[in-house]
Amino acid sequence: MTLIAANLQAVRARIEQAAIAAGRDPATVGLLAVSKTWPADALRAAAAAGQRAFGENYVQEGADKVAELAALDLEWHFIGPLQSNKTRPVAGAFDWVHSIDRLKIADRLSAQRDAHLPPLNVCIQVNVSGEDSKSGVAPDELPALAQAVAALPRLRLRGLMCIPEPTDDVALLRSRFATLRTLKDALVADGLALDTLSMGMSHDIEAAIAEGATIVRVGTAIFGARPYPTAVAPA
Ligand SMILES: *Cc1c(COP(=O)(O)O)cnc(C)c1O
Repeated sequence: MTLIAANLQAVRARIEQAAIAAGRDPATVGLLAVSKTWPADALRAAAAAGQRAFGENYVQEGADKVAELAALDLEWHFIGPLQSNKTRPVAGAFDWVHSIDRLKIADRLSAQRDAHLPPLNVCIQVNVSGEDSKSGVAPDELPALAQAVAALPRLRLRGLMCIPEPTDDVALLRSRFATLRTLKDALVADGLALDTLSMGMSHDIEAAIAEGATIVRVGTAIFGARPYPTAVAPA
């Protein structure tokens, strides 16, 4: 077994244990393999071990891998910050975008989504950590943004995503994840058909699953420490 296959097996076991501990069906927690900075061969190894969904943060790097691995019929999620002048390749190549934080980006993705493709699945990224984090829409601006995104013809609003501030404080992490769940429940009560909470990374999938995560985004625990710091990765 390759190291990546063994790591995947260990992550799947963590997901299963966390789901059972939370009284949830493990099948309700999807695993997104975050493959940013890793070459296509690493993704091939994960795919050979049964992994279908991959997350990328950088537009060009991600679009290149989508093209290179087209024959494998994988599911592609864009999870990084997105500038409005780089939406077109994302609208063309990806199945999901987790990082919608303003209407301008959503508008462009909807306008640029090819008619022959299914609607682009999207999540709105919410800033659940207040001033400690800069990415994501503020919770008080979420309802208006969610209604506007849900009305766009070529997008399908699936749910919410968050990245809490880095911390080892499990109680704090759980409270951030619980905030995202509460915000999603309020939108559902307002009539939006949402089924996705994208939350939890390598170090905190247990806390996220305990609070209702339906997609955990895991990079390091599958592929190892990244070969270069993501802050200087190619855009
Ligand atoms: C890099 C990244 C991850 C994965 O983080 P790990 O700690 O390596 O599991 C998850 N979500 C987002 C948005 C990321 O940028």
